[in-house]
Amino acid sequence: MSAPRVRFAPSPTGYLHVGGARTALFNWLYARREKGVFILRIEDTDQARSSKEMVEAILEGLRWLGIGHDEGPYFQTALRGEHERAALRLLEAGRAYRCFCTAEALDARRQAAEANGRAWKYDRACLALPPGDADRRAAAGEPWVMRFRVPEGVTEYDDLVHGPTRFQNSDIEDLVLLRSDGSPTYNLSCVVDDRSMRITHVIRGDDHISNTPKQILLHAALEAEPPRFGHLPLILGEDKKRLSKRHGAVSVIEYRKNGYLPEALFNFLALLGWSPGGDREIMTVAEMVEAFSFQGVGSRSAVFDHDKLLWMNGEYLKRRQAADLAGLVRPWLESEGLWSADLEDARKAWFLALLDLLKERCRLLPDLAGAARPFLTERFDYDPAGVEKHFTAGAAGRLIALRDALAALPSLDEGSSEAVLRDLAGRLDVKAAALIHPARLALTGRTVGPSLFAVMAAMGRDGVLRRLERAARVIEAPAGPRDAAQERG
Ligand code: GLU
Repeated sequence: MSAPRVRFAPSPTGYLHVGGARTALFNWLYARREKGVFILRIEDTDQARSSKEMVEAILEGLRWLGIGHDEGPYFQTALRGEHERAALRLLEAGRAYRCFCTAEALDARRQAAEANGRAWKYDRACLALPPGDADRRAAAGEPWVMRFRVPEGVTEYDDLVHGPTRFQNSDIEDLVLLRSDGSPTYNLSCVVDDRSMRITHVIRGDDHISNTPKQILLHAALEAEPPRFGHLPLILGEDKKRLSKRHGAVSVIEYRKNGYLPEALFNFLALLGWSPGGDREIMTVAEMVEAFSFQGVGSRSAVFDHDKLLWMNGEYLKRRQAADLAGLVRPWLESEGLWSADLEDARKAWFLALLDLLKERCRLLPDLAGAARPFLTERFDYDPAGVEKHFTAGAAGRLIALRDALAALPSLDEGSSEAVLRDLAGRLDVKAAALIHPARLALTGRTVGPSLFAVMAAMGRDGVLRRLERAARVIEAPAGPRDAAQERG
């Protein structure tokens, strides 16, 4: 068999959402796995709802995820002539006919059918027009649409995901191919393009299943071998309802804005409906390509588990080199006023070591920026629950004692600061934790984080001393220890 040719065919009527991205990704994985060709086709025939901006947004989303196309982007509007010619061929061959029924007449007949409890489908009134009649009415300027004449019988195909699938043609309406303004409809354009682009596998969402028998019949009417079809399961929110904005971010670019890494979203989307077997989750792109097959794609809906994505992002964040992270976290630092040029220059080595220290516990880029804040400025808040627990009346004295003990060191490294703290705890006759917890809060504003001694080493002696003093002042301030805001400025 020759190499597969697959396509992703978004309509640029909205941003690239996670469902579309997942479709693109499965096409891409399949093309890479089978050494085929991945084609990008922009289905922009709905001119009123399509926009250049959305085309750009879709391309940007794909680029960000690393889903590159081998051919295209083709724009469907540019191919309209082909679609029209195909429709005319079908008309001439008697596989399609003109329909003069007005929208009002159709509506009235639909209502009558429904009132009698019958499901409505076009009643083929215009198929029965006497020969020559349709030509005369069209020539006289009466508006018409072109309908496909659905043949009798059954349409069967072997879905790559769902297996053998069968439709009674009698359930399929004579679909419109050309609208009254002459514009081709989705099903016609899609089939003509899939044919001329020699698409071998149509891989798309489950919401297109009902189009598939129509498209197979159209391929046959155009004397073409239909491609294979595979329909990917729906993506649901955690409440098992179809994923929508109600469930949080749905556009790919929003994930970028929220501080996700593209490789994490890529990996996560790949597992939405596909299982590589075993309990493998974090996988390189090469591993995913190697393992991808439609056998592993389930037919049941996939649930979008935000917590899992967040976890995965944390895993990928840890795997990134500090030098990459520095560039990625910079916009967040800039927007917080925490960026300075020396982080790329005189303090670069220090900054990279800091990111390595902090990345272990962060899940999103803004988390990393937040964790870096206390190292870059003394203006940071204390976690209120931590204040309640650790900034007790006696803590101020302990923090000052720690300050004094550390001040005696020429500089702080992990070993010496730990020795000083433990020695002080012994002298004060308190547990080390009675120093460690308030000190961590004093230095980072948080109750959890990397080892306190690593924090001290990264912060440097003078920075540590100032933050300990500030915390002691806050604890002793008359307004009470909870009001850290007054210390900001
Ligand atoms: N433009 C259609 C969509 O975005 C493409 C469907 C198909 O892949 O055939 O849903």
